[in-house]
Amino acid sequence: MADFDRDYFIAVFRRMAETAETNRDEWTRLDGDIGDGDHGINMSIGFREVVKQLDAIPDDTDIAGTFKLVGMTLLRKVGGASGPLYGSFFMKAGAEVADQTEVSFDDLRRMLRAGVDSIQARGKAQLGDKTMLDSYLPGLDVLEAADAADPGAALTEFVARMKQGSDDTIPLVAKKGRAMRLGERSVGHRDPGSQSSWQLMNCFVEELAR
Ligand code: ADP
Ligand code: MG
Repeated sequence: MADFDRDYFIAVFRRMAETAETNRDEWTRLDGDIGDGDHGINMSIGFREVVKQLDAIPDDTDIAGTFKLVGMTLLRKVGGASGPLYGSFFMKAGAEVADQTEVSFDDLRRMLRAGVDSIQARGKAQLGDKTMLDSYLPGLDVLEAADAADPGAALTEFVARMKQGSDDTIPLVAKKGRAMRLGERSVGHRDPGSQSSWQLMNCFVEELAR
């Protein structure tokens, strides 16, 4: 079974940066409907800096170090609620595989679970609160239940479930973040962070398929 190395993750992060650029206006529009209309801008600013950092990354930075660099950059550069959440997601994910030069598929799902746990620990949101957790939590359950013999298929199922989770935020009333202030008026709109999450996680799939 294929293991994932540092080059794979660097390519994934670069792909995420392209995804943030391509979807900047869409994420901002979604956030304009139920928030303050900056989610795409925030993420674009953060990932542009991530690319700069990756361009200068020292050769001896390992997988955990790469995740830490990305997480800290997002924490530092992305404004709003999503910066610290995405930042700690990547930092905690990387911390799971300290000193490893390759990670297995099982390691990868452990990393993603640790990342999502940290989003929940920081943001204190629950499933159904209309946040990015509504895509991550059901997605991860699928990922953990999937057959490890086919990581590509498992990651594809993971992302498909995340996308479904994002769709499922549309009828929900927001209970966390800025959208919470809208109460019932948040119904009928997709949570922007649930959309950016599945699209960013899709980069793991795309890079694997390359
Ligand atoms: P801000 O809301 O500060 O303007 P962004 O617009 O960049 O930040 O990000 C908004 C997204 O952050 C929301 O769509 C939601 O998915 C996510 N979010 C906000 N608060 C929380 C929370 N407490 N837990 C999990 N996700 C959250
Ligand atoms: Mg916002």
